[in-house]
Amino acid sequence: MGQQVRNIFDSSSDSNPLEVLRRVWGYQGFRGMQGDVVGNVMSGRDTLVLFPTGKGKSLCYQLPAICMEGTAVVVSPLVALMRDQVEELKELGVAAGALWSEQPPAEAAEVKRRLRAGEMKLLYVTPERIAAGGIQSMLGDGGLSLVAVDEAHCISFWGNNFRKDYLALGRLKEMYPGVPIVAVTATADPHTRKDIVRLLNIAEAEVFIDSFDRKNISYEIIPRGNAKAQLLDFLKRHEGESGIVYCLSRKKVEETVEWLNEHGIRAKHYHAKLDPALKAANQDAFRMEEGLCLVATVAFGMGINKPNVRYVAHLDLPSSIESYYQETGRAGRDGLQAEAFMVFGMQDIVQRARMIDEGDASDQIKRIERAKLNALVGICETTACRRQAILGHFGEHHDGGCGNCDTCTKPIETWDGTEASIKALAAIYRTGERFGVGHVIDVLIGKVTDKTRRFGHVDLPVFGAGKEFNAASWQSIYRQLLALNLIRVEHDEFGAMKLQEAAAAVFRKERPVTLRRDRMVSRGQRKTTEASSYSSRSGLSADDREVFEVLRQERLAISRELGVAPYVIFPDTTLIAFATRRPRVLQDMLDISGVGQTKLERYGARFLRALRLALQ
Ligand code: ADP
Ligand code: ZN
Repeated sequence: MGQQVRNIFDSSSDSNPLEVLRRVWGYQGFRGMQGDVVGNVMSGRDTLVLFPTGKGKSLCYQLPAICMEGTAVVVSPLVALMRDQVEELKELGVAAGALWSEQPPAEAAEVKRRLRAGEMKLLYVTPERIAAGGIQSMLGDGGLSLVAVDEAHCISFWGNNFRKDYLALGRLKEMYPGVPIVAVTATADPHTRKDIVRLLNIAEAEVFIDSFDRKNISYEIIPRGNAKAQLLDFLKRHEGESGIVYCLSRKKVEETVEWLNEHGIRAKHYHAKLDPALKAANQDAFRMEEGLCLVATVAFGMGINKPNVRYVAHLDLPSSIESYYQETGRAGRDGLQAEAFMVFGMQDIVQRARMIDEGDASDQIKRIERAKLNALVGICETTACRRQAILGHFGEHHDGGCGNCDTCTKPIETWDGTEASIKALAAIYRTGERFGVGHVIDVLIGKVTDKTRRFGHVDLPVFGAGKEFNAASWQSIYRQLLALNLIRVEHDEFGAMKLQEAAAAVFRKERPVTLRRDRMVSRGQRKTTEASSYSSRSGLSADDREVFEVLRQERLAISRELGVAPYVIFPDTTLIAFATRRPRVLQDMLDISGVGQTKLERYGARFLRALRLALQ
């Protein structure tokens, strides 16, 4: 490719982190606390890094690994994730490899050979592999520089992805005394943090916690109406973009995919029971293609490195705020605007609570899970800034009024719901606390059905006492009463609603009840404008947008030729900078974030040519 650029590891001057950051990654400087973390690791100290997704955790161990003598071992929970990272590093010109159990023998042999020769800066392995020991004997003279534990929350019961193999990592400190351990995770809660420190035996570790605010992600949670239509409306805002739709069950995943494809959205599915070949193919399609909607259970997600996931939608309630934040956090790693969207209704709470109750966990764990569910319901029902509420849950202060969540951009109206609540509670009481929400609402709105007649409910004074509201409004009221802990739902009695003790104060009018007025956003209500489509969102002019599209095509072409994901070649942010700054020569490209020496050499000329053609 024309210009000769020296091999970036020819020189021995690879110990200046900032210089390596610029030359290898092409970044102008450190982001947030990255610089401090790198310094700490390079001084040989154990380090715990708690950054939200997208703040650049991997660099915190990759950069020291390059600068330090020897080979760094990175423990990673998923083969897909390991391979993705190795691919990215290779594209940067960094010597990296991975070992895993089902690897083709020839490939493993080559990795081992390069390890022994001391050529490898980073080696990715699974927790099982490192626990088995013997890694050190595979390394060359430089020995082991550091051990990084990626997705370190997997070691914790509190994290969402508890894995037994991770427990074996507790021995690392004994196995490799004197070698710094770097644990990184995007899970913020204090329990998980404590577990990681305790279970990895890194009591002395310096802890780096960055703000968990993901400013570029907007949050929207709307009351469940016709969920599929609501989803379709939402997806219309994301034409040509990639995103994830989460559903609770495999069946729902399959139905949703079919429905979306019938309605002109290119969607593929993913869940744990899917045929392994198809699962791998769909995951790969998501990495390699642009503008694909992946509908999945939570089995999908860990190890998704794709930085330009533009939305994450939930058609069902996640299990906790932690899960919600982790799942939505997969959007917008590149820092460009991304959207988190969820539909939420009474039946979601009932369904989740039933799953907890019917699970075989101990009573203590069930209590914890219930508390986590309640906290999430609180976020769904809040009338305040959602970002403030979410961050508050993680112990982080935010002033509110973020301007990038639905309650901020369209403030929630509240109303005095005391009278309505009394009626709602009375209807439960008068029907004997034996019925589910659907039936009790029928009684309130005076709907004559087989059931209301059979139980003699048509003769009750509460029958028809709530005609001033429709069924959807009563649904909303009951949902909020549940969130306020004034009622509960018994799952072993087919969802019968019961009064909680606190309800007595409402009956006596000692406790006023303020409720939120729900906004129903359903099909056709939202206008999809051109201005909300893909590249325009990043603030590009029409002209630049055209250039950007040409560059995107070029990237896709290279990606197909080489069989690597488009984002591994250059992230969208770099292409956007090409489109707006329009470099003319290779040297100009080096000033753009994301263009390091190796990538300049490999792809610079092609993108320059594409730019020239686009501008003709
Ligand atoms: P995390 O692992 O914390 O989710 P990543 O390591 O995937 O984050 O980084 C998120 C994005 O930010 C990536 O696209 C990465 O290339 C970019 N990035 C990381 N550090 C920097 C930096 N110092 N300057 C510019 N971009 C960065
Ligand atoms: Zn807000």
